[in-house]
Amino acid sequence: MRIDILTLFPEMCERVMSESIIGRARAKGILDIHCHQIRDYTTNRQNQVDDYPYGGGLGMILNAQPIADCFRAVCEQTGDRPHLIYMSPQGKTLTQARALELSRMEHLCVLCGHYEGVDERVLDAFVDEEISIGDYVLTGGELPALTLVDCVSRLVPGVLSDEGCFTDESHFAGLLEYPQYTRPAEWEGRAVPEILLTGHHANIMKWRREQSLLRTARRRPDLLEKAALSDKDKAFLEQALVAEEAGDDPADE
Ligand code: SAH
Repeated sequence: MRIDILTLFPEMCERVMSESIIGRARAKGILDIHCHQIRDYTTNRQNQVDDYPYGGGLGMILNAQPIADCFRAVCEQTGDRPHLIYMSPQGKTLTQARALELSRMEHLCVLCGHYEGVDERVLDAFVDEEISIGDYVLTGGELPALTLVDCVSRLVPGVLSDEGCFTDESHFAGLLEYPQYTRPAEWEGRAVPEILLTGHHANIMKWRREQSLLRTARRRPDLLEKAALSDKDKAFLEQALVAEEAGDDPADE
């Protein structure tokens, strides 16, 4: 998969995308990530990329021209017209489901805004989709873009060692993940739940499912409404919640 990031801070993006799992996937050629400096495409002598907003107001707005030319250069270099995403607090909030769809695309391009934002006309002309990483505002689109690219990249086949790494975890099937433990079996007086030491696979799977259900019910009840639950799941939850109301603590966490 190829991903091009258009930014005023390509070194920052390059640095983050060179580490750990994403860095290794790039080295193996599974991910082809390129960071482009928007400033290289300015046509004025000062290499200025921003200007005052028409109508007045605080802050600076990124000019349309260098962004448009930077995107056109990517299209020309690759002979392709990638799906262009603008990172914006006004976009749809990123979800695991959308990340999975994006991970199946061959070529993505991600535009990072800065200062007060971007001239609306270049967004109208080229952008296919706006994505937000949450209802808060950052100084620039780099951290949001890196968040998106990280989230999408780990879903690309071959990036994680085993697909189970992500099909099993929080948000993939609409539930939060069960609690996880590693060695030692006892740490500072706290023991690992005994069932995990039994080696009884079916019982462990059942316990994990139940923990997932309980955690989601307690922490994110909004997710439970949309999750695909079996009759067994529903019966378990009902019983657990009744027990909780009666003051019995169903074994959890
Ligand atoms: N004035 C704009 C916000 C500008 S923030 C407004 O009110 O909508 C500067 C840049 O940071 C934006 O252009 C965008 O690329 C990025 N950004 C800030 N918060 C973000 C968020 N929650 N999700 C995605 N991108 C964000």
